[in-house]
Order: sequence, then C-alpha cells, then structure tokens
Amino acid sequence: MDPVTESLGELHGRLSGLTEGEVASYIPQLAGADPADFGLALTSMAGHRYQAGQADTRFSIQSVSKPFVYALALSDLGPAEMLRRVGAEPSGEAFNAISLEPHTGRPANPMVNAGAIATTALVAAAGPAERSARILDWLSAFAGRRLDHDEEVYASEAATGDRNRALAYLMRSAGSLAGDPHVVTDTYFRQCSVRVTAADLAVMAATLAKGGVNPVTGRRAVSQDVAVRTLAVMATCGMYDGAGEWLLNVGLPAKSGVSGGLIAASPGRFGVAVYSPPLDPEGNSVRGVAALTEMSARYALHLMHAPVHLTATVTDTVHAARSARERAPGERAALDRDPRRIAVVGAQGDLEFTETEQLLTAVQAAAPATPGGVVLDLTAVTAVGSGPATMLARSLAGLEARGHQVAVALQQPFLEQVDAHPGRWVATREEAVAWCEDRFLDG
Ligand code: GLN
Repeated sequence: MDPVTESLGELHGRLSGLTEGEVASYIPQLAGADPADFGLALTSMAGHRYQAGQADTRFSIQSVSKPFVYALALSDLGPAEMLRRVGAEPSGEAFNAISLEPHTGRPANPMVNAGAIATTALVAAAGPAERSARILDWLSAFAGRRLDHDEEVYASEAATGDRNRALAYLMRSAGSLAGDPHVVTDTYFRQCSVRVTAADLAVMAATLAKGGVNPVTGRRAVSQDVAVRTLAVMATCGMYDGAGEWLLNVGLPAKSGVSGGLIAASPGRFGVAVYSPPLDPEGNSVRGVAALTEMSARYALHLMHAPVHLTATVTDTVHAARSARERAPGERAALDRDPRRIAVVGAQGDLEFTETEQLLTAVQAAAPATPGGVVLDLTAVTAVGSGPATMLARSLAGLEARGHQVAVALQQPFLEQVDAHPGRWVATREEAVAWCEDRFLDG
C-alpha cells in the first residue's frame, strides 16, 4: 500500500471512534444520514487520487458549493465589482445569521448563507434555468466529472427554506440582492442539492490548490487570480464562526457544509475532503475538523509555516571560463593572452524570490572586479516567476553598466519570452561563454 493511502487509512481507523456531534436534522434527507459514514479523500497536484472509508458515498454538497460559485461569480464580475456586492470580512456569526452591513445591506462574505445567496444571484445568465445549468457545469468542471442534483434534497430545501428566503428579502429591501428573492433562493437550493462524493470534493479542492487547473483532467477551470481570491475567502470565512480558530490551529483554506462535507486546500500540495455527517455546534463536521487538524500538523501544512527550501539554487561557480569553440590560431592566442575573465554561475529549479536572491548574490560575488564576462547558466532552471524575472533583468543591466559582457543560457521555451532583457540569451553555457569571447575579440 502506498504511504498516502496508508496514512489516510490510519487516520480513518482512529477517528472512526470519534462519535461526538449531531447530524443535521432540518430536512429528512440529512437527518437520515448514517452518523458512522466516514470518508477521506486526497488529490495530489499530479492528479493522483487517494482515499479511505466511504469516499464514494454520495451526499448533497450544501455549503461546500459556496466557494466554487463565488469563483464563478468572481470570474463573471471581476474582483472590484464582486467586492462591491459581497464583502470579504469574517462575520463571527452562525452560517445563517443576518450578516449584513448596516447601511448598504451588503452581506459580510460569500461563505455564509446571506453572502452565498447574493453571490448565486450574481452568476451571469439569461434566467434561473440557465443560471442553475451554469452552476452545475461549473461544479462539474471542478470535479472533473458530470455531477447531478439530488431532487429530493432540493425539494426539501425548498419546502423548509424560509429563513434563507427571509435573508434574501432583507437583502432585496436593502438593495443588495440582484433579482427576485424567491427565484434566487430556489437557484441556491438547487446549488446546495448537487450530489458529490468525498473523492469528488478532493479533486475540486485540488483544483483550487493548483491555481485553478484541475490536476486530474489537466483543464483550467478558473484563472489563477480567481483561485487565489477564492482560497483567501475560504481561509478567513470558510468555517463560519469557527473560522478564526481554524486558521490558528489548522491554517488552511477550507469550507464545510451541513451535510458533513469538508474540504481544505493546501496550495501547491493537494486538495483534501472529508465526509462525516455529525457536526459540531459551529456546523462543521467533527471528524472532518479532527482529521484536518491532524493532517495539517503531520505534514506541516499551516499557511504561515515557512516553506523549506530543499534544493540548492546555485549548482556551480566557475571563476574563469573559456569555451572549446574552434578558432583561428591567432584568435585562440589572443584569447589566451586576454586577462579579462568570464565568470559562470549555474542555477537549477524554480526561481522565486528566495532562489533569485540567492542566485544574484552568487553572481555579484563571482563577477570580475574589472570589466570581463558574466555568464548565467540557467539551463537547469524550470520556471521563473515574473517578479524574479524583473530582479534578474535589473541585475544583468547593472552588470552591463559596469562594462561586463553578459550572457544567459536557458531552456528553449524560455528563450522566446525573454528577448527584451539585457545581455545575450542563448541555449547553452558553451554558447554563452563563446559569445563573451567573441565580444572580447571584437574589441
Ligand atoms: N442548504 C443549507 C442552508 O442553506 C446549506 C447550509 C450549510 O451547508 N451550512 O441552510
């Protein structure tokens, strides 16, 4: 058995014994859920899927739909308009509280019911049927498979949904709800009744963790910016009135639902989901909270935990390099006599701020004191962030200003993106060194 499945299985076995919490009872379909049902699922950034227990048991998504529908409305409206319509402040109140801003009626955040209903109303569509269809398509894209509705849950939600309707009417009277309260809450009830499994939810969470790309299908569901904003709202508001303590103890963006679903996303690592119907007084799955608290500690997932840099960025430094390029005897002799040295610094991996700062420190240390050549061998570099690219460009321009010949070797795909940068950009270290030599021979 692989170690991830083993660790999920171990957690499942141990936490099955946790029998606190109450199954939601406001509709018969939820009241009838088996309190012993307990599923765990995890999807990695490579799209590998792991699970333990009842991870294929279907249940209604309920409030776990909220971050995804928020992502949809956000994609439709853009960040400024979205924030104008629905806030991003934790309410510190229960999920179904009247969390509206005093003068504007703007709901506190999209993770509590009021904000979620207002958000659903903002999904662009010609009418309610199209809006529901878009939401279902959208959730399906995150899950990587065609989802459907639980019609019985939908009918029960609609039959008992007076409090949600009341929230919608309050918002309309304050001018903060787009559309008819009855119609909008109906769409919201359909959204809550979409059927999923813990295995589906793990893929959905992993899609947010991967910057909006579904790691199983490889398709982009949402832009990186929307994924980031959605995760941020989950981090501050996803766990209702337990959100502050959750961020403190677990430190991951998460979202819970009344049916016992709970998702968490560890950005760049994985998405995880739990299904276990008994809820704590805040309305969060008891075993879900326990499982994620343990996982976060075990794998050091807390967002505020500084990442460990395991790979050295600088691979090697050459003090005075010469190329093996074939040259006329006169030129070779001239280069042998030339006192100007060419320093080479090699680097590997992804260049983010920390790595780039390390690399540029090494380059400054290696650069000749008097005008010569500087070669950056980035052929083993796998990605360069946009901020780091600017740092790199500035540093190279500085070296040129000091009279150095500057050449950078890097992989072909990057070469196409960088023609505006200072220095000479070529495909190999050898070419970069030879290019500096050519400049020496020129003058
Ligand atoms: N359908 C539920 C409601 O609106 C969803 C709430 C939840 O999952 N917490 O009341």
